[in-house]
Amino acid sequence: MSANVEIKEDIRTLQMEKLQAGLEEVLATNSFYKTRLHEVRSWDDFHDLPFLTKAEVVEDQKINAPFGTNLTYPLGDYVRLHQTSGSSGGRPLRWLDTARSWLWWTSIWANHVYKGAGITSEDRIFFAFSFGPFVGFWSAYAGAERLGALVIPGGSMSSEQRVLAIMDLQPTVLCSTPTYALRLAEVANEMGIDISKSAIRKTLHAGEPGASIPATKHAIEAAFGAECYDHTGMTEVGPTGFTCSAGDGVHFVESEFVFEIIPVGTDPDPMATKSEGIGELVITNLGRFCSPLIRYRTGDLVELSREPCSCGSPFVKAVGGIRGRVDDMFTVRGINLYPSQVEEVLRRYSEIVNFQIRHQKVRHMDEVSLLIETRDGTDSIVENVVLDLRHSFGVRIDCQCVPNGSLPTNEMKAKRVVHVQG
Ligand SMILES: [Zn+2]
Repeated sequence: MSANVEIKEDIRTLQMEKLQAGLEEVLATNSFYKTRLHEVRSWDDFHDLPFLTKAEVVEDQKINAPFGTNLTYPLGDYVRLHQTSGSSGGRPLRWLDTARSWLWWTSIWANHVYKGAGITSEDRIFFAFSFGPFVGFWSAYAGAERLGALVIPGGSMSSEQRVLAIMDLQPTVLCSTPTYALRLAEVANEMGIDISKSAIRKTLHAGEPGASIPATKHAIEAAFGAECYDHTGMTEVGPTGFTCSAGDGVHFVESEFVFEIIPVGTDPDPMATKSEGIGELVITNLGRFCSPLIRYRTGDLVELSREPCSCGSPFVKAVGGIRGRVDDMFTVRGINLYPSQVEEVLRRYSEIVNFQIRHQKVRHMDEVSLLIETRDGTDSIVENVVLDLRHSFGVRIDCQCVPNGSLPTNEMKAKRVVHVQG
């Protein structure tokens, strides 16, 4: 391993400075953390801090409704409320921001996410998003304003209206989930409109791993005649990553967060985290001390690489973006699989317009089957898909064609895996 696989020393110094300054305030006034944390004078002290799980935060918000106790300042200092989509079926998390922490969010969008994608103040950005309480594209929207781009909200519009707005207003950038971008292209096609002839030159996605899955990325790029970029972030954590010109993953913004890796499926040791390799991502944010998360277990599976990137970024890269949720892994005849791996195979078929993975435990064994919707409504490709999955993973996964429109389409996060009670 070469010397430059280490985290850059100036980044480490910056992280420690931000952490110490922020924790001083947190330890003084934040009742959630007062008993959990201690002063951090060194990285050894940091590694001595416990991990935090989502369950602990959910429990705190349940007992101390509605906002929980992870608040460093009086309620009157907060200016925004957002909440998670609750896509994992649980109670949504509520998160408050101050003017200062919101500025932190939007600066990361302007200085890293848009910049990484080559989006500038000359661009016109269309947001195909509902603008509900989910933070997703609110921060992207405010970040785009900060960048000086022209922002176009596409909330409260049908997919048909959005297609017409894209053709009429000629935005150069589309922001949406990857699944919804493909849905818009499908709707345009049904309307007899060639959306690849629109002015859109870049598409920027969040909410799902799709834009870092090669076949999905290629499908979006082909449909829009545009370059496709990924963004990672979480309501409770902040905007963490962006795709660079290399286009093979997501750089994590190490000047604003500390990223650590722990092994999957074990009881991890807080003292023994890694800064590269495959595992569950643990995040500490360094610009949101009004409601911070310190050593937060995200449940996201990533592969962090510190090999130098052709774009010149000093930040670590999550190769292939976020691979999926640690919880969504399933095992078919001894083979561990994530939904994103299945998606990579399915997206090679332009005939498939929607799909869902159904997972069931039968006598402690994972049973997995696929439901697909096809463009022409027939099951003519099913045998090929089953063969292709078998070639890719060495196991047979049953696949069934269902009538068009029977699987959910969502402009937020598509729920790709349904865990069926056995
Ligand atoms: Zn790069």
